[in-house]
Amino acid sequence: MEHETLFRLSVFLGLFVLLALAEALLPRRARRTPRSQRWVANWGLSLLNTATLWLLALALPLLAVGAALDASASDLGLFNALNWPLWVEIILAILIFDFAIWAQHLITHKVPLLWRLHRVHHADTETDVTTAIRFHPVEIALSMLLKIGLVYLIGPSALAIILFEVLLNGTAMFNHANLRLPLPFDRALRLVLVTPDMHRVHHSVHRAEHDSNYGFSLSLWDRLFHTYIAQPSEGHDEMHIGLQWQDERPSKLGWSLWLPFTKR
Ligand SMILES: [Zn+2]
Ligand SMILES: [Zn+2]
Repeated sequence: MEHETLFRLSVFLGLFVLLALAEALLPRRARRTPRSQRWVANWGLSLLNTATLWLLALALPLLAVGAALDASASDLGLFNALNWPLWVEIILAILIFDFAIWAQHLITHKVPLLWRLHRVHHADTETDVTTAIRFHPVEIALSMLLKIGLVYLIGPSALAIILFEVLLNGTAMFNHANLRLPLPFDRALRLVLVTPDMHRVHHSVHRAEHDSNYGFSLSLWDRLFHTYIAQPSEGHDEMHIGLQWQDERPSKLGWSLWLPFTKR
């Protein structure tokens, strides 16, 4: 477990630094707000989310990886009854969990109460690598409960869950990055993975555009369920990011935490 935490933290910090540097060298859009204004709130939310997961781990007393070990020891879940080769189970588990996160994301846009939580992510006035860690702690806790439930149903190995979490975290940082990729490379890559240009459409102020491209890792689900929009109608340079009634308050941590409970 200690190795798992160290492995995840190293990948996260390594990728964060790489993507932050890449954004500075090859930005897709001109920055409208200084990084320092938004990063304090986004990092603040991320640290609060880590604390929330620690508290959840104490209360339950396990998270998704612990649940996978527990399900395996108690012979619970589909894969623990099937005895398929590990690599088959890992591929299937990643596909199932990625689909579940896609479906959860779509539901958070459709159910008004859940949208109140999720709009904290959308309130960011720009997208960059820190938008990937900008979520309300209650949404993070609900997402973890969903994953734990699914672990007991599917019975994946702990390794599959660790790989899935690293993939989800890594691809989320990548596709939120304000990064200019060569267009032919973007076109080829988005056949499989969600690229920054594809996910940026999801952060448009226009409802039809932000109700599209729900994927974080694989682009497959949006194509399959016809929720795919290739490019923003106003173009990547001119499009407005955030919520329709946007101002600069999302840069403030307290305002962001309180946003689900305000009238808007
Ligand atoms: Zn969303
Ligand atoms: Zn996003």
